Amino acid sequence: MMQAQELRDIYLKFFKERGHSVIASASLFPEDDPTVLFTSAGMHPLVPYLLGQPHPEGKRLTNVQKCVRTTDIDEVGDTTHLTFFEMLGNWSFGDYWKKEAITWSYEFLTSKKWLGFNPNKLSVTVFAGDRDSPRDDEAASAWRSVGIPDERIYFLSKEENWWIAGNAGPCGPCTEMFIEVDEIAKCGPDCRPGCNCGHFVEVWNDVFMS
Ligand SMILES: [Zn+2]
Repeated sequence: MMQAQELRDIYLKFFKERGHSVIASASLFPEDDPTVLFTSAGMHPLVPYLLGQPHPEGKRLTNVQKCVRTTDIDEVGDTTHLTFFEMLGNWSFGDYWKKEAITWSYEFLTSKKWLGFNPNKLSVTVFAGDRDSPRDDEAASAWRSVGIPDERIYFLSKEENWWIAGNAGPCGPCTEMFIEVDEIAKCGPDCRPGCNCGHFVEVWNDVFMS
């Protein structure tokens, strides 16, 4: 079994080897954002840089961000929800994009050198498109090119595959990765990533601000 510290270490090492600067976690109490009480996502302290302000450490960053999230509080106590947690992040400010982000996520999750999950147990979700924004075919084709078959690429709506910080501000489609848990059977024929029966567990979300 892998310990939390080892997971943090190898994640930062993986992205450091791919040109990312390692930065420290920001405070749990946001310094310049009066809209929230706590830092609730890795994205949070980096919003000014996602909006174009140059970051002193460069265009590729990686970090382990402390987070407190109260929106999930009713779900705390199940197998995957906590109020306090740490979010591992890799960040590109106007540098690499979907193809590289997805290829690296896949490599870190499945390579025996890193986490070594069975690639046949990996499913992904991609934004399906709607009246405002097109289907994310670029993300889907990046998944196909690393070897995820069409039957494990699910196109879902904005509710599940669109990241937004608030009513205004950075947002964009995202692609989520799920590992199937053998010990928990599918709840039925319609069970899919995003179903909360526990068979599919989300392990990663690549957000594409655009
Ligand atoms: Zn299910």
